[in-house]
Amino acid sequence: MGSAALGEAIKGIRSWAMNEGRVIQTPANVKDTFGARVFNDKVQQARLPKPVYTSLRNTMTQGKALDISTADAVASALKDWAVENGASHFTHWFQPLTGITAEKHDAFYGPTADGRALAEFSGKELVRGEPDASSFPSGGMRSTFEARGYTAWDPTSPPWLLVNNNSVTLVIPTAFVSWTGVALDKKTPLLRSMEALSAQAVRVLKLFGSSASRVTATCGPEQEYFLIDSNFYFARPDLLNAGRTLFGARPPKGQELEDQYFGSIPERVLAFMADVESELYKVGVPIKTRHNEVAPSQYEVAPIFESANVATDHQMMTMETMKRVAPKYGLACLVHEKPFAGVNGSGKHLNWSIGDDLGNNLLGPGDTPHQNMQFLFFCTAVIRAVDVWQGLLRYSIAHAGNDHRLGANEAPPAILSVFLGDMLTDIFEQVEKAGEAKSTKTGGMLDIGVGALPKLPRDAGDRNRTSPFAFTGNKFEFRAVGSTQNVGLPATCLNVAVCESLDALGTELENRLKKGEKLEDAVKAILKATIKKHKRIIFNGNGYSAEWQKEAGKRGLLNLKNTVDALPEVIKPEVVKAFEKYKVLTEAELHARYEISLETYNKTINIEAQLMALMASRYILPAALEGVKNVAQSVAAAKAAGVPSREGKKHLTQLVRLVDAFKAQTDKLEAAAAHVGGAADKHAKYMRDTVVPAMVKLREIGDQLELVTPHQVWPLPTYREMLFVK
Ligand code: ADP
Ligand code: MG
Repeated sequence: MGSAALGEAIKGIRSWAMNEGRVIQTPANVKDTFGARVFNDKVQQARLPKPVYTSLRNTMTQGKALDISTADAVASALKDWAVENGASHFTHWFQPLTGITAEKHDAFYGPTADGRALAEFSGKELVRGEPDASSFPSGGMRSTFEARGYTAWDPTSPPWLLVNNNSVTLVIPTAFVSWTGVALDKKTPLLRSMEALSAQAVRVLKLFGSSASRVTATCGPEQEYFLIDSNFYFARPDLLNAGRTLFGARPPKGQELEDQYFGSIPERVLAFMADVESELYKVGVPIKTRHNEVAPSQYEVAPIFESANVATDHQMMTMETMKRVAPKYGLACLVHEKPFAGVNGSGKHLNWSIGDDLGNNLLGPGDTPHQNMQFLFFCTAVIRAVDVWQGLLRYSIAHAGNDHRLGANEAPPAILSVFLGDMLTDIFEQVEKAGEAKSTKTGGMLDIGVGALPKLPRDAGDRNRTSPFAFTGNKFEFRAVGSTQNVGLPATCLNVAVCESLDALGTELENRLKKGEKLEDAVKAILKATIKKHKRIIFNGNGYSAEWQKEAGKRGLLNLKNTVDALPEVIKPEVVKAFEKYKVLTEAELHARYEISLETYNKTINIEAQLMALMASRYILPAALEGVKNVAQSVAAAKAAGVPSREGKKHLTQLVRLVDAFKAQTDKLEAAAAHVGGAADKHAKYMRDTVVPAMVKLREIGDQLELVTPHQVWPLPTYREMLFVK
């Protein structure tokens, strides 16, 4: 019963408030605990012989290959450190194409001849693992009989200790490839794309006279999520199995006032947050901000940015830690894009920039005109990249969960565009006309006279929550990423897009310089032509509005409204060409990803459809019939008592009609969902065009039933309870 869950939730909240909530725990000093469970630079320096340390550092900072003797020495030190800290097992941790992470634990200890156990761990075991890969998706790249898959240590992301109640495991971040070297994960292409981007960015920097030798893509992913009482979570089969509610009437307006209903609420949530942060600090995840989000029971957590691959690992660890810690506080953490229809959904804002090895953020406007020229060049390259690679970027955020969000009630539309803010737009308008800007709208901050480009204030100032891709002062924020996503994929696609753009613009700059043009003139000419050609992607208005849909159409921008429309973008010839040119993924690897995404979409919709039919038949229909019976009995009793109720009878008629419609639609959904396969792309279209609409219809009627069925017999916790009883 839904109301039983409510009772349990309230009990849980009360006793928590009285017990745990009262215990004052002094938070540990972050300075002492940060990275305490990480085999980080400090530990490496202390434990590795100098030449080994230097060699490992070179691998980490310069991408130099690691030789086996270094690996052996690192493995030995790593094992000692882990065992001293209580570790019994190690695991190669990887990010297969399922979207989550995978790990297989191996014991350090092997038996010796005299019957003792000895901790062993060789360089080979550190560098290479071999999980049975056959049950991970490969999109047909590896048939089951060729189950061999390798995990390869990613030395640029430090190992750490996973501490549970009764076990400590050394976790080694790895890439996952097939025995033929085909990438089966999200990490491998990310690392490859970072290499490619670095090469092109360094090439451009050289033209500007920089001595930088390496450029790193940096990411700071903000995570939105919901927290609800776990009693509610366990009483909702849809949340348990699909991560989102498939039924549920919206709470009446003004319900927010109930927010303060239980005084202890924020304390429990705050205690959860502090615990998550403390756990993450220990494993070196630099969490920086936490706050309430727009929707009731919705929150956000954001880290300090790091290199894209480390940020990706840390982001996965953040989601996993939140889910793991929540039950300790009687909570369930929901990271789905749309757990509650009609309530704001969750995204993952991927803040992205590029920095060189001299410590410069290449998307920071800088102070001198010279830096500005370089900044404008890089910024223009990003603008061009988003325009040229709209389809690829749209693909990178396409999955069933995000379909509920993009272009729906909130969140950015499915159309890619770039927000620059008034001031930067003004500058680019001037650049388009003259190749340079002589003034800014705000005035007073400009170095005129130097004949070059303007001095820019660091802050872009205004913000736009409706833009999918916004410049925010010294970085771009890709705001259309879904909250469940591994940011590795969007980061990879962004890296490739910008890499190609820098390559194209850099080649032109080189050619002009070869012809003897002055740097300043050449840059001006390129900026002018590029902005003219790609300015259609710049949009500072309201992305949620219907006018923008029309305007974007006029501008010829892509509007791929759902996953099924967006996925084929990844196998377009130009995408394949670019990914092959920069050695990020081969055509076969891209096709495999396409197939896996389609399969995942089909499976997701199928699970949801089956679940809905199950909930309809076994939860909602019986409850609704119970409601009908109650009314029917009352109406009959009133009539028998000689006072027939006209309105009661009318109500009963309406109720019965609704129940009939619900049952009929349940049958329809079941029939629709019974459709079998065929080619994955055709099946996906069928899912989108037939199954999803049948689900929407069933939900509509189900939610009407909820509103007319007595609370005591309604079998599911309601939105009102889940979102406001905390
Ligand atoms: P905002 O208020 O614009 O969201 P914040 O400074 O709070 O700005 O940053 C939001 C996120 O952006 C944080 O996760 C932060 O680490 C990240 N970020 C800041 N600078 C960079 C950068 N150069 N590269 C990548 N991410 C960055
Ligand atoms: Mg932000």
